[in-house]
Amino acid sequence: MDSPDNKRRAQAPILPLLGDLDYTTVTEYIDEFLSRYDFIERIFLGSSIMGRELHCVRLGKKEALPILYVGAHHGMERMTSALLLRFINEYCEALMNGMKMYGVDMRYLFSERCIYIIPMLNPDGVELSLHGASRESPLYDRLLRMNGGDDFGKWQANERGVDLNHNYNAGFPEYKEREKELGILGGAPTKYSGEYPESEPETKALCRLIRTTEPELILTLHTQGEEIYYTSGGAAPTISRRLGRIISEICGYRLAEPEGTAAYGGLTDWFVAEYGKPSFTIECGRGENPLPKEDFISIYARLRELFFRAPLLV
Ligand SMILES: [Zn+2]
Repeated sequence: MDSPDNKRRAQAPILPLLGDLDYTTVTEYIDEFLSRYDFIERIFLGSSIMGRELHCVRLGKKEALPILYVGAHHGMERMTSALLLRFINEYCEALMNGMKMYGVDMRYLFSERCIYIIPMLNPDGVELSLHGASRESPLYDRLLRMNGGDDFGKWQANERGVDLNHNYNAGFPEYKEREKELGILGGAPTKYSGEYPESEPETKALCRLIRTTEPELILTLHTQGEEIYYTSGGAAPTISRRLGRIISEICGYRLAEPEGTAAYGGLTDWFVAEYGKPSFTIECGRGENPLPKEDFISIYARLRELFFRAPLLV
């Protein structure tokens, strides 16, 4: 016969195993989680250019050691939002059931680590890449010009054509030179860094949260390549190299240093330079962006242990 515990487990989790969630669906799941799990908190971060709320939830006691997970800097990389939502869902179910996950006692994790999760930092970019430009957007004509047509399937930037992961204050002037060489002179589907660091509401909101909470570890999820970057040019603290090796062992992704344009203006580069604490860019999955939603299950399976264990590595 089923014990009450087994019955409870049979109901969980809520999320279907699909990797192609748009902003509306992500919002619905976050609302559902917040109503179902009274121990998680919604953090008000701010809004995107198009006024979409930048969702952020907190798992763990407020006074515990802060950790930050960020998904979907880039429009085509929306599978990372689904990965983080799935993790929130499993975390909550495991905690309610008093379970251990990969040797991690969930009640201990909840009381000793405070994980901030932003599943979709760039909701406007995700919507563009999934549904194309909306005629409602005040930037509609400009979007078509920046994109060079109305197929937005390869769009990575935010609504103003700024690539959020080049908009942080790390190597910004140097990157401006690289941009010119690449022929990028203004808003574009990818790789334009903006007028100045944190010029965009999305990056500004995230940096505000980082300055307030000063996380001990950041994992920022992108697709694709099955690689882990811990920053460029030997600037990483010793702990980053040590942790990077452990993380690489846990998920089986290769530890690498960024080359070319990837080295400039990224969240990982800025955070490591500013705080000297570990931060990792995880390139989830392998293939061509956007990754097919059918890949979601296998990608999540490889990263699941890391999501549960990483907070206790620091
Ligand atoms: Zn990316």
